[in-house]
Amino acid sequence: MSDDKIIDGKAFAATVRARVKTQVEALQKDHGITPGLAVVLVGEDPASQVYVRNKARQTKEAGMRSDEIRLDATASQEEVLAVVDRLNADPGIHGILVQLPLPDQIEENAVLDRIDPAKDVDGFHVINTGRLQVGLPALVPCTPRGCIMMLKERLGDLSGRNAIVIGRSNIVGKPMAMLLLQESCTVTIAHSRTKDLAGLCRRQDIVVAAVGRPHFVKGDWIAEGATVIDVGINRIPKDDGKTRLVGDVDFDAALPRAGAITPVPGGVGPMTIACLLANTITAACMANGIDEPA
Ligand code: NAD
Repeated sequence: MSDDKIIDGKAFAATVRARVKTQVEALQKDHGITPGLAVVLVGEDPASQVYVRNKARQTKEAGMRSDEIRLDATASQEEVLAVVDRLNADPGIHGILVQLPLPDQIEENAVLDRIDPAKDVDGFHVINTGRLQVGLPALVPCTPRGCIMMLKERLGDLSGRNAIVIGRSNIVGKPMAMLLLQESCTVTIAHSRTKDLAGLCRRQDIVVAAVGRPHFVKGDWIAEGATVIDVGINRIPKDDGKTRLVGDVDFDAALPRAGAITPVPGGVGPMTIACLLANTITAACMANGIDEPA
């Protein structure tokens, strides 16, 4: 039954959010801590507004404090940095997320680097990137964290498996590769200059696609029984003039060969916000020097 092969990210994300809610209750009861997440939105980008609304709703549903700071599209770099400084100093805020992209007049790296690494729930700060690299406890980018959770839930121990990550971005590809390495996989990182990508993919137990090109990974690139994690989110036109979302993997062609595969939508996407909440729990516990509740 091919349905058993489909990794249901929506259902899994719901279990992660339920666990987060239980953890929030335990932190409140045992330590008097209510984890707090602040999201900063600069400008009126419609997609960003939707993300920020969803993040705020899910944060509140988990029982956490949710702060939303909105600034005009014309805000200066100093104004944005001042907001970050204020949130860094607020002991009730354990996680800070600045929604990207930022307007042109603001230097993205300067803002991300200003976030206290201990509150960097996006895991983009160089301190967290470096800590992940050397295997120290770190706040890890949400999308790769979600992918690893799904892989471990489906496959159990990942040790010794061959894995390829297609894409080397700082947000997905590179941290994904580091997390797979931490799980003792043998990791190949592929990118736009990689030769014989199809041949490389056919040798893998795990294929993670994070390219941003619709149906880039073909069905016959997938080894029999391999696990496929499709991070891509691409909007393509339909015959009726509307659009639909597809991943980086040709899902219909890969499904018969794969042992397990994430769909788009409904795979990696829903896990990302759930992992943002999980990262906020991690940050709140690290800040207070306590173990994460079960
Ligand atoms: P990016 O554009 O920063 O990186 C794309 C990577 O693909 C690059 O490293 C590039 O080297 C590689 N690439 C490009 N052409 C290639 C080729 N021909 N062969 C091999 N590699 C090639 O993108 P990103 O931010 O890493 O995002 C990747 C995709 O994941 C996008 O579709 C994005 O929308 C999606 N995404 C989804 C989530 C989620 O929550 N599901 C989160 C982040 C990103």
